[in-house]
Amino acid sequence: MNKKIIIAPSLLAADFSKLKEEIQEVEKYGAEYLHLDVMDGAFVPNISFGTPVISALRKHSNLVFDVHLMIENPDRFIKDFVDAGADIITVHAESTKHLNRTIQLIKSYGKKVGVSLNPSTPLDVIKYDVQNLDMVLIMTVNPGFGGQAFIEKMTDKIKELRTIAPQIDIEVDGGINEETGKKVKEAG
Ligand code: ZN
Repeated sequence: MNKKIIIAPSLLAADFSKLKEEIQEVEKYGAEYLHLDVMDGAFVPNISFGTPVISALRKHSNLVFDVHLMIENPDRFIKDFVDAGADIITVHAESTKHLNRTIQLIKSYGKKVGVSLNPSTPLDVIKYDVQNLDMVLIMTVNPGFGGQAFIEKMTDKIKELRTIAPQIDIEVDGGINEETGKKVKEAG
């Protein structure tokens, strides 16, 4: 499998007092995606930022805005994130009662759609939807905090997903560094 590797730096890692400069810097150094971790304090234990920050940054960046929604019942806000400038919208399978409906909603705006799975969530939950997805985001930590250790078992999940969906984009999120980056690349 010769999938291209794309680095998606997370805005969470930026200095929040100078976001514009920070995202322009990662763009200058060759990043293609900007990963935007939106947390609501309900689906995950933290609150991060929302649409006002994303729309403010959109004017200053040509990066692909890769929006990772860690929010309960995301359907309520999909249009807001589309309007804010999201290019890819990823929702958690665990955050919506009607995942297929949420996927269709995102697609109805002409945006790329991803589904994310927490470490304990099996691939079975997307079995009947995977053909409709542009991307699957495998969480390699439990979402909600930065700086957690990579969960090794997730490489098995990546391998399994690559077998089920040879063409799909697989994104990984959490604990990725030079060493774990190699492991997930080898896994698929
Ligand atoms: Zn994320």
